[in-house]
Amino acid sequence: MVKKAPCTLVTGGAGFIGSHLCERLIDEGHQVICIDNLITGRRENLAAITDHPRFTFIEADVTKGINIEGSLDYVLHLASPASPADFATLPIQILKVGALGTHNALGIAKAKGAVMLLASTSEVYGDPLEHPQTEEYRGNVNPIGIRGAYDESKRFAEAITMAYHRIHGLKVRIARIFNTFGPRMRLNDGRVIPNFMVQALTGKSLTLYGDGSQTRSFCYISDMVEGLLRLLESDYHLPINIGNPLEMTIRELGELIWKILGKKPKYTTKKMPPDDPARRKPDITKAREILCWEPKIELEAGLKETLDYFRERLQE
Ligand code: UDP
Repeated sequence: MVKKAPCTLVTGGAGFIGSHLCERLIDEGHQVICIDNLITGRRENLAAITDHPRFTFIEADVTKGINIEGSLDYVLHLASPASPADFATLPIQILKVGALGTHNALGIAKAKGAVMLLASTSEVYGDPLEHPQTEEYRGNVNPIGIRGAYDESKRFAEAITMAYHRIHGLKVRIARIFNTFGPRMRLNDGRVIPNFMVQALTGKSLTLYGDGSQTRSFCYISDMVEGLLRLLESDYHLPINIGNPLEMTIRELGELIWKILGKKPKYTTKKMPPDDPARRKPDITKAREILCWEPKIELEAGLKETLDYFRERLQE
């Protein structure tokens, strides 16, 4: 007997992480339904699979309800604007998709008996007072600050996901995604890697917020997708950090980009945005032990791939 392809719904599937995930799921033999309202996603991100017989795209806003005919095995809820630049312009959409969107994703997962994976974030830790961040750390979030809309929407999303698990016995997976980069990030995304790359490729200075001594740890997109799929296939229902523990300052990141391009470094200093975390680095002990996962792609190799993407996009 031929085994039926698993049927998987991806919200936010036209976004940066979502589109890579949809592509990988198609490769793995899934039937994939992608819902996106395209406020930050792009149809072009799905170009490689748009016409695939196992792929369906629905342009819709998941905060208004999700209606899918037929069975579903997995619901992957990735929909949300996620760049700090979006926190300033789309805070209401962010709060709605984290709250109402997550509720709707859980509702359909429950109705179909599907496994629900929530894309959560390292932002649940806020500006962390513990370093590196383990899943047990409860965070240092300013609920009314500029980042509060995103941080609290994801904290609420985790809370309601756990409530569905406890009350309805829903099978849930919660990924705390740390800084991720790669092709298909938006040119005007506002996050540090797209900003620095577009600036460096167009002969401008890199905009360092503050003195650039704040740290982040950057995970390449293919590693992230692998981590998310391993989590989906696990039976672990508590939050798990997925990210690269290689920590560096933002100035070091800038230096590396200039080095790869073989250009002389140029910087302009800008004011540090409020509540910008001073340090961030995932403790991935759980991901290593439970998912047998850790990032594989060297930072420099990932940056080169991403630079190629931005170089191409800038020529459009
Ligand atoms: N940043 C910067 N210049 C930029 C964009 C960002 O110095 O043009 C800094 C920002 O202040 C933060 C870090 O880079 O400390 C990472 O910012 P990003 O927006 O990528 O994401 P975050 O990790 O803050 O959510």
